[in-house]
Amino acid sequence: MLVRLMYASRAVPAVDQDELVAILKKSKANNPKAGITGVLCFSEGIFIQVLEGGRDAVNRLYNRIAADARHGDVVLLNYEEIAERRFAGWSMGQVNMSRLNPALLLRYSECARLDPYSVSGRVTAALFDELVATAAVIGQG
Ligand code: FAD
Repeated sequence: MLVRLMYASRAVPAVDQDELVAILKKSKANNPKAGITGVLCFSEGIFIQVLEGGRDAVNRLYNRIAADARHGDVVLLNYEEIAERRFAGWSMGQVNMSRLNPALLLRYSECARLDPYSVSGRVTAALFDELVATAAVIGQG
């Protein structure tokens, strides 16, 4: 059984570009073994991550990630059973924030800021879909 999970969190101040690279590196090393695919977005201190895979594997990884001291305020935005993966090509892709234009954000929220805490999980999921559709995900494999 496949599931897709989406959450948001706030990075602790110490998280910088190097730490982000380390998280992505670790994800790319671990996720294929667990059959996990997904996408990670990091903008202005906020993480949004989508995890896809078997229910047990996704639940285990989410619990591990939620306990990670590098972030807090972890909020589950969406959890659903799925027939097929949306991010099958990425063990952990990274949203290319330079492709995130203000018009796209304004379409889905009151101001041109990525703030998953102030919009519904459905809206954040729709924004993710658009980013993937416009090829704004980097880090194939
Ligand atoms: P090890 O890498 O050996 O780590 C052992 C312990 O040390 C773990 O408890 C780990 O949390 C902690 N640790 C390691 N490095 C640091 C550090 N620099 N600062 C503080 N504590 C540290 N992991 C994945 O496998 N897949 C993912 O998709 C994924 N996404 C993540 C997204 C976010 C936003 C964050 C913050 C973390 C993510 N992680 C992901 C990392 C995850 O939380 C665990 O750190 C990692 O899975 C542990 O890998 P490991 O079992 O190989 O243990």
